[in-house]
Amino acid sequence: MRELANSMIDLVLGRTCAGCDEPGIGLCDGCTRALQPRVRLRRDLDVGDVVEGLRIPVVCALDYRGIVRQVLYRYKDHRIRQLAGVLGPALGLSVAFAADRAGVPARVALLTPMPTRRDSLRRRGFDATALLANEASKHVATSGIRHLLVDTRTGGAAKHVGAFERELRAIDAFRVRRERALPTKPVILVDDIVTTGSTTKEAVETLLMAGVQVVAVATVAGTP
Ligand SMILES: [Zn+2]
Repeated sequence: MRELANSMIDLVLGRTCAGCDEPGIGLCDGCTRALQPRVRLRRDLDVGDVVEGLRIPVVCALDYRGIVRQVLYRYKDHRIRQLAGVLGPALGLSVAFAADRAGVPARVALLTPMPTRRDSLRRRGFDATALLANEASKHVATSGIRHLLVDTRTGGAAKHVGAFERELRAIDAFRVRRERALPTKPVILVDDIVTTGSTTKEAVETLLMAGVQVVAVATVAGTP
């Protein structure tokens, strides 16, 4: 598996490690070790203001720092799509763990990728979270992927604003796609990174208010 992932990276990167810039082929051993998933419950998201008493597990497979942070940055901002193959297994484990915490068999759950802002889509030319969801699906059996949310935000990128402003901006950030009937299956929201959790909460609440049964959130990496 690792060899396959590395050979895909080699095609694109060639000369240096995507994690640390060491000269060499593909990911170096140190970075490969740093990307070994250690799945954990990051928090229970309290959505009691929408459904009384409801708490939803938010799971991550890696700590968002160091090499992991660098690889995610390269993946999204340097548009190295092949890194999805490296991060996909971690998200797959995260999905399996999240389903288990929610008491739902993963195979009956639908994955819904966190939507990408339109300006990020334009800049990158690909949907980083959707691609990760596809890769994760190769490592955990689910009932499929369905894009249920649209990101309606405009303006500056979220990483340049503080926690308080981020929370303000998260309000009304999403809407639910209604081109087709909404699913009745349990849904797991998937995302690349979870930090403050305010955007995650807004996305989960938007789905719940539309009548979608969100049971868990699975991410690649969370802040320690
Ligand atoms: Zn490295």
